[in-house]
Amino acid sequence: QQNRYIKRDKDDRKTADKVLDKRTAMIIHKYINNEDISGVYGCISTGKEANVYYCASEKYGPCALKIYKTSTMVFKDRDKYVTGDYKFRHGYAKHNSRKKILVWAEKEFSNLHKLYSAGLRVPEPLKLRSHLLLMRFLGHEQDPAPLLKDLKMSSKVATELYWSLVLDMWTMYRVCRLVHADLSEFNLLVNDGQIFIIDVSQSVTPEHPHAIDFLKKDCFNITEFFRKKGAQTVGFKDLFLFIVDKSISHENKDECFVKLKQKAAARDPNLTNEEKVDEEVFKGAFIPQNLGQVVDFERDYYEMKMGQRHSDDLDYQPIIGMAPDLSSAATVPRILHGPESHTN
Ligand code: ADP
Ligand code: MG
Repeated sequence: QQNRYIKRDKDDRKTADKVLDKRTAMIIHKYINNEDISGVYGCISTGKEANVYYCASEKYGPCALKIYKTSTMVFKDRDKYVTGDYKFRHGYAKHNSRKKILVWAEKEFSNLHKLYSAGLRVPEPLKLRSHLLLMRFLGHEQDPAPLLKDLKMSSKVATELYWSLVLDMWTMYRVCRLVHADLSEFNLLVNDGQIFIIDVSQSVTPEHPHAIDFLKKDCFNITEFFRKKGAQTVGFKDLFLFIVDKSISHENKDECFVKLKQKAAARDPNLTNEEKVDEEVFKGAFIPQNLGQVVDFERDYYEMKMGQRHSDDLDYQPIIGMAPDLSSAATVPRILHGPESHTN
C-alpha cells in the first residue's frame, strides 16, 4: 500500500526523491484514494520547474501528472510574467515560494482550460490539487509524443505543421486572449501528425505590459524553427501582424489566411539584406498596444495625410485597430489591401 508509485530505476528515484517531499507524496495519495489515478509510473521529464510523470487511471485512461518544484531560485526570474496581472495587484513578490508554485500550477490549469475549450490541441486538463496538475497523456502506450524539436520531418510536413500552428496562434490570441510567452519547438508536441501546445503556466493576457514583446518572440521562434526545417513561411513580422490585426475577424480570417499563404509561397526563403534589416529593426521596435502609448499620434496622422508616410511603416495601426490613414477604425485588414503601392 505504501509504495504504489513505482519508480523505474535508480536515476528516476534520485530525481523523484527531490520532488517527492512529504506534501507531494500526500497529495499523490489523495489522487489515488480518490481513484483519479491508480498509480504513478515512469518519469516522462525532469525540468527546471517541474517533473512530469506517467500515470495510469481507470477514470481517464493514460495521464500525465505535472509536479511543480518548490525550489525558490528558479521562480525568481519568472516574476516578470505576473507583473500587471490583476490577480496579483497587491503584490506577488510577497508570496513565498510555496505559494508561488501554487500560482503557476493554477495558471497552467486555467490556461489549459481556456485553450482546450476553444478547441485547440492541448492536453486536456483533468484535475488540479495543490501543485500537482493532472492532464491527458499525449503519446502511444507509454511512449510520450515527441517534442517538435526531436521530430524528423520533410519540408512538406514542416509546412503543414507550420500553417496549422499559425491558425492555433491566431485562435490563442484572438479567441482565448492569451500569449504563450514561451512558444518554441521545446513546448510543442507532435502526436499522430498533429501539433499540440503545452507548458502554458507563464502565458499572459494581451493586457500584460510585456504581452506584445512575448508575442513577437513567440512569432520569431516559430518562424525561425520552421524556416530552418525548409517550410514555406512568412516573415515573423507578417505572422505577428496576422495574429494581432484587430480587423481580422472570424468572417474574413480564411481570406486573410489564404493571402498569407500566397505571400509565403511568393517569398524567397533566402532573405535579402533589406528584409533582414527590416526584421531586425522590428524585433527591437517599441510597439504601442493602445492609442495612449502612441508617442505622437498627431504627427503620424498629419504625415499620413500629407502623403509623407505609408501606413505599412506604422506597425501599431493594425494592433490598435485604426484604418491605414489613421482617420477611423479599421475595417479592412492590412493583408487584404490591394497590391502594395509602397515603393521603398
Ligand atoms: P517544463 O518545461 O516546465 O518542465 P512542460 O509542461 O514543458 O514542463 O513538460 C515537460 C515535458 O514533459 C515536455 O517537454 C513533454 O516532453 C512532457 N509532457 C508534458 N505534458 C505532457 C503530456 N500531457 N503528455 C505527454 N508528455 C508530456
Ligand atoms: Mg517546457
